[in-house]
Amino acid sequence: MAQIPFHSKSPDQVDDLVIETLPKDERLWVPQALNVWFRPLMFNTVTGEWVNLLRVKKSGMLNRHLHPAPVYGYVIKGSWRYLEHDWIAKEGSFVYEPPGEIHTLVVDEDVPEMITMFHVFGALIYMDENGNQTSYDNVHTKIDLARKHFESSGLGADFVNQFIR
Ligand code: FE
Repeated sequence: MAQIPFHSKSPDQVDDLVIETLPKDERLWVPQALNVWFRPLMFNTVTGEWVNLLRVKKSGMLNRHLHPAPVYGYVIKGSWRYLEHDWIAKEGSFVYEPPGEIHTLVVDEDVPEMITMFHVFGALIYMDENGNQTSYDNVHTKIDLARKHFESSGLGADFVNQFIR
């Protein structure tokens, strides 16, 4: 059997990724909605999942959406809740959202800023109050948004590539 050299990297192995999550450079935050930004950490185009930081300031909110696949979250700063649930995710909380979950994320007025890392699989299907789809997000729409923002903010469209595997 062939010996695997210590610290070897397989030729078909993708590059690892180490990112300082809370840098000072404001251009790294991609505007998503009023008072809502995301900071890409990793886009996985093979499995359709992505990891990002979500930042919400001043009682911003994320429109009602359905997750057909799971979401994992970890609250880094502040707190938030879903209109559809009676719990509050606080700093240090771990959150698991099962497939089929429909919710509206809100940050209350007494919270100046919240930052949460979300690991999202599949998609967010945005819907109106009647349950009709209005739009969606998946790993490709997120890459697209980030690419456009990095281009217009001066970092360059290719800046997004470092997050893509
Ligand atoms: Fe969600």
